[in-house]
Amino acid sequence: MTERHDVVVIGAGNAGLACARRLAAGGHDVLVIEAADRVGGRSMSGRFGRLWYNLGTQYIGGIGTPAEALAKEAGVELSPIYENCIALYAGGRLVTAESGVGFLARLPLPLLDKVSLVRTELGLEKERRLGAKLTGSARADRRATLDDMRFADLLKDARPAVRDVYRNLLLMMTGGEPERTSAFLGLLFTAGIGTPHGENHPPSETLLAVSGGTAALPIAVAAQLGARVRTGTPATSVRPGPSGIEIGTLAGVLQARACVVAVPAHDAVRIAPDLPEPVRAALATVEYGPFVSAILHLRCQGRGPWEKLFHVGAVGLRFQAFNNLTYFQPGAHDEAVFLAFAAGDLARNLMATSDEDIAAAAAEDLARIFPQSAGALMGQAVQRWPHGLPFWKPGTDAARRLFRDLPGPIFLAGDYTDYPNIQGAIRSGQRAADAVSASLRN
Ligand SMILES: Cc1cc2nc3c(=O)[nH]c(=O)nc-3n(C[C@H](O)[C@H](O)[C@H](O)COP(=O)(O)OP(=O)(O)OC[C@H]3O[C@@H](n4cnc5c(N)ncnc54)[C@H](O)[C@@H]3O)c2cc1C
Repeated sequence: MTERHDVVVIGAGNAGLACARRLAAGGHDVLVIEAADRVGGRSMSGRFGRLWYNLGTQYIGGIGTPAEALAKEAGVELSPIYENCIALYAGGRLVTAESGVGFLARLPLPLLDKVSLVRTELGLEKERRLGAKLTGSARADRRATLDDMRFADLLKDARPAVRDVYRNLLLMMTGGEPERTSAFLGLLFTAGIGTPHGENHPPSETLLAVSGGTAALPIAVAAQLGARVRTGTPATSVRPGPSGIEIGTLAGVLQARACVVAVPAHDAVRIAPDLPEPVRAALATVEYGPFVSAILHLRCQGRGPWEKLFHVGAVGLRFQAFNNLTYFQPGAHDEAVFLAFAAGDLARNLMATSDEDIAAAAAEDLARIFPQSAGALMGQAVQRWPHGLPFWKPGTDAARRLFRDLPGPIFLAGDYTDYPNIQGAIRSGQRAADAVSASLRN
């Protein structure tokens, strides 16, 4: 007998699970099928004994956001990350971000570059404020203009060293290079680099770390859904059938009144051949920036010089960013866990090398920043993300609307339909759940 549900959700990343949770809360009979043998997708965590680490998602968006609400509902413990625990390594020096102006002034850049950095930042800030002030059609028009432009266009007057600073930041935040990313997304995701706000940072913008690792959130949501989540079950096809939607799996066909495809765009286009042609064409254009993550487990003697730092951005090394994950795990004075991140071309270069070489490169880079870490490596973990983040290419706003406004019975969810982060993923899943509920009522 064919198994039948109200709704089948394909993919147990944050988008699919947030969607299923909302549908289940609304009384729908929902089943989530996940290809991998774990839930969480790009939220992936691990442990070295008592210390946890994140290989994918590092933190979730701030207080008052859908991610925080979902974490609370799932009973997951969160801790805030304040911007004063951020530093930049450039020109052989580590500069901490204790105060905005001081931060820019102390960067190891020649005077002309510093002036260019301040001017660029002021120019971007002016553009952001203008966007925030506009309303109605003027706001939509400005967004459309910025959507058509490349972020690189906004940096055209900056000196090369300054463009490099923004390139690094944009790659880390969106996975895209300034030449290939829309100016609108670039403006949103590079906001305020020169103005760290310390503990007075508006609470809604404070970022949150998940105790135990960011995968604890999807794992907790999946636990609440219980048997309604089935791992190790890849969907091979999603097609309309005589009595609803038919979802092909290796174990047989599932039938549903509606289906939410919450997998990355390149998987969605492969398994859902009957989506309207403009939607399939738009899906095929979604591009993801690559990432490589290396976790370094270090032996320490006492508190390290990194104790009060969470994040170090780096210029001129093989990795662009380092997160000290021991920041959230006080009491671990004889060991530390760092994540090293590379994106864009740096990630492409590393991707082809062995895990050992990737970890060795990360350990060497870290020792340039913190010489005390040299020779202290006890363990390592490496993850390649060929499809890390779906950056917005110029002129793609309309496609995202297309993904969001589907009439059903096949719906799409996932970060590529919204912002390329956890907020976007969760919001997209909840939006799809609302659309499914409305369609099932009709
Ligand atoms: C290295 C890295 C660091 C990041 N850091 C942050 C951060 O600090 N903060 C932040 O907000 N965001 C961050 N992100 C982005 C964030 O991880 C993603 O935006 C979010 O996890 C995407 O969720 P999703 O559910 O849309 O997709 P995914 O997490 O990719 O989930 C899709 C799921 O679908 C499954 N699937 C695919 N095909 C099939 C199939 N045929 N059948 C069944 N299942 C299938 C996959 O196995 C996967 O589990 C980071 C991403 C990366 C790669």
